[in-house]
Amino acid sequence: MSIDKLLNLNKLAANGTQTTILQIVRDNSPISRSGIVSLTGQPHAAISRSTAILLSKNILVEDGGTDTKGPRRKRGLRLNPDYGYVIGIEYGPDGIEAVAMNTAYQPIAKSTKTIDLANRDQKEILELICATVKSIQKDIKMPAAQCLGVAAVDPGLIDDDAGISALATTMEHWNNVPVVNTLEEQLKLPVLLLGTSTAKILAVDRLELNNSIANLLYIEYGKGIACGMKLNNTYISGQGHLAGELGHLQISNSQAVCRCGGVGCLEAMASLTAIAKTAAAGIESNNSSLSQKHELTGMDVLRAAAQHDRLASRIVDEALERLGVAVAGIVNILSPKMVLFDSVINEAGSEAVAVLMRSLQKTVLASHRRQLEIRISSLTSHIGALGGAAAILDACLTA
Ligand SMILES: [Zn+2]
Repeated sequence: MSIDKLLNLNKLAANGTQTTILQIVRDNSPISRSGIVSLTGQPHAAISRSTAILLSKNILVEDGGTDTKGPRRKRGLRLNPDYGYVIGIEYGPDGIEAVAMNTAYQPIAKSTKTIDLANRDQKEILELICATVKSIQKDIKMPAAQCLGVAAVDPGLIDDDAGISALATTMEHWNNVPVVNTLEEQLKLPVLLLGTSTAKILAVDRLELNNSIANLLYIEYGKGIACGMKLNNTYISGQGHLAGELGHLQISNSQAVCRCGGVGCLEAMASLTAIAKTAAAGIESNNSSLSQKHELTGMDVLRAAAQHDRLASRIVDEALERLGVAVAGIVNILSPKMVLFDSVINEAGSEAVAVLMRSLQKTVLASHRRQLEIRISSLTSHIGALGGAAAILDACLTA
């Protein structure tokens, strides 16, 4: 369900001023009242009044100022971590990941269930999702009554208005699933449904960058390749939330078949699946450490490249070179301030990372290169679930 339709959501802000204060504190804590005044331009009295209300409701806390030992610390307002919590849950063909996050955006529990969901029926998957939510609620100290809501991060095409997952190409029976209604009924909690790409860029934006970059691309790299986009401070998800399919950009005349049915797609040439395939085909004729692996995965190839295995390095360098060129094309079109790559890239080692950076910078227009910052994300796991949790908490902060 889209955020504005979550009628029964537990709202922390009662009006626009409180929303503004909570969002500023979220991105800048600890911050003083004067700090908030200078960022909003609103009168000091109005900010003070609203802040006092948020403090009295224990939504905000204020620390410092009473410490008599050592230098007097600056007073600072923060979101109260003990006010409550939310749950983000991401499901896909390979399993379910969940995160409980307190109201100060700090993860307080995580769980991973590796299970093949590609061919399971809807009822079974929905039951597994509910069981995962209930189990993570048991793991944390806060009572269940303090749970403000749940975000379901879905691998498919989403119908916002109906709260339905319409279709997921990676899960056979996952079509027309009434995710929101079913989960709300079972869990007795407000449920927000969102797509993976939206959730992931939100995770890095909130938890790593403190919402500080107005124009951001987040490049997801794994079995698939996708691109989350934030432009002029707005997340771009497109019609049907289908924007960002970077993996299906045709980058080569190769006849390599992609899972989308096309040929020569970036994903078919440069994803983890693709490099595993290329390595498996190359092992026989090469003296590679990879030949000892029983079932070769893309991560094995990345890690072998980091260990300077010649076959792996050649394959990974070529893949990352292609990735760099493709991302440069998107940079030239959208002009982000920052490109943030999935932390998985680090597994390939510093030399391979340098190949990616060089290839991107070489292909980007000079005008864009000057203002571009390229980084690798520090978030290493549960990114979709974290983003889901951040999304529903964002919704609670909005009046
Ligand atoms: Zn494709």
